[in-house]
Amino acid sequence: MKRISVAQPTLNGNEKKYVMDCLETNWISSVGKYIGAFEEAFAAFCGVKHAIATNNGTTALHLALVAMDLRPGDEVIVPTVTYIATANAVRYCGATPVLVDVHAETMNIDPAEIERKITEKTRGIIPVHLYGHPAEMETINAIAKRHGLWVLEDAAEAHGAEVSGKKVGTFGTCATFSFFGNKIVTTGEGGMVTTNDDALAAKLRLFRGQGMDLARRYWFPVVGYNYRMTNIQAAIGLAQMETVEKSISDRAQIASWYDEALANLRTQIVLPAPVASVKQVYWMYNIFLREGNGARRDAVMRAMDEMGIETRPVFYPMHVMPPYFESVKYPVADLWSPRGINLPTHQGLTKDDVERIAFSLKQALLG
Ligand SMILES: *Cc1c(COP(=O)(O)O)cnc(C)c1O
Repeated sequence: MKRISVAQPTLNGNEKKYVMDCLETNWISSVGKYIGAFEEAFAAFCGVKHAIATNNGTTALHLALVAMDLRPGDEVIVPTVTYIATANAVRYCGATPVLVDVHAETMNIDPAEIERKITEKTRGIIPVHLYGHPAEMETINAIAKRHGLWVLEDAAEAHGAEVSGKKVGTFGTCATFSFFGNKIVTTGEGGMVTTNDDALAAKLRLFRGQGMDLARRYWFPVVGYNYRMTNIQAAIGLAQMETVEKSISDRAQIASWYDEALANLRTQIVLPAPVASVKQVYWMYNIFLREGNGARRDAVMRAMDEMGIETRPVFYPMHVMPPYFESVKYPVADLWSPRGINLPTHQGLTKDDVERIAFSLKQALLG
C-alpha cells in the first residue's frame, strides 16, 4: 500500500509553463515580470494594498521587524505554540520574544493572557494563524491600539483564511506568509509581506534589496538584506494563485471527510471545532488525544507510521526548547501540545486515503 505523506505540493496548473518561460527568456534571477505579477495577484487575493515578495517566510518575518524598527532591548508578544521561525525572527533583531499561552484546540494565542505580559519595552504583538485557523484579530488589534503597539500577523500557514469575511494578512500593521513546499500556496521556498501602509511598504522594498535606494542605483542609505525572491519562484507562485481557490476548497473537503470518518472516535480524541465567524483553511487537520501525555501520542504516531501513514506532532511550545527555555508553566500549551497530532492534509488526498488514515488512527488508539 502506498505511503501517505503529511504534506506535499500540488503543481497541476501553469507552474511548468511559467518556469519554462523564465528559462527560455533567461530571466531566472530576482528581476523579471513574474515577481511583480505574483505580488499583484497576492495583494488582490488578500485585499491589501501592497505585497512584497521575499525568499522565504522567515526572511519575510525578519524584514517586517526590521522595517518596523525593532531593536535590541525591545520586547515582542509571541504565542508559545508556533513554528520556531516566529520567535527566531524577533531574536535576529536582538529583541526578546515574550511568550503567551494559547487556547486548546486551535493552539492560537489567548488574547486574555496578552495584557499581563505587556511592559514598557513591548513594541508589538505577533499573532500566528496556526495551522490555518485565524487568531482573534479584532480583540488583539484592540489590545494593540490601547497600548500603542504594532501587530504583525504571522499568516505563514493561513493563505485565504478569513475573520468576519475579511482575509488574514489585512488586519495587522503588516502580515507575513510562507510559500515553503508544504504550505497551502508554494514557490518551493518563498515568502511575502503584506501591508496597507505606503511608507512601510517602501521601507520593506528598501531593506529587501540590500538597502539600495529605489530611485538611485548603487546608493545605499541603510544596511539592508538580500531577501529577494527569484523570478522562477514567482513564476510558480503566480500559477499557484490561479488555482488557490481550489486548493482551499479541496482542503475544506478533506477536513469534512476527516470530520465524518473520525466522528465515532470523539470519546477518545478532540476534533477541530468550527468557529462561526472564521473561515479556517486547514493547513493541517489536527486531533488531540483526550487522555495521556507526549509518550502516548508518540506511540500512536509510531503505530500509524508502521501502517504507512506519516503524521507530525503539534509544535512543541517555545518555552520547553533550549533557545527559549523557561521554567514557568503555560498550562494550556503544556497540557495540549503533547497530545496533538497533525494528520496528513494536502490536495492530493482522496476520500479513500482519509478513510484509511482514520482506520489506522483507530487501530493505533487501541494499541
Ligand atoms: C513555515 C512558517 C514560517 C517560516 O516560513 P519559511 O518559509 O519556512 O521560512 C514562519 N512561521 C510559521 C508559523 C510557519 O509555519
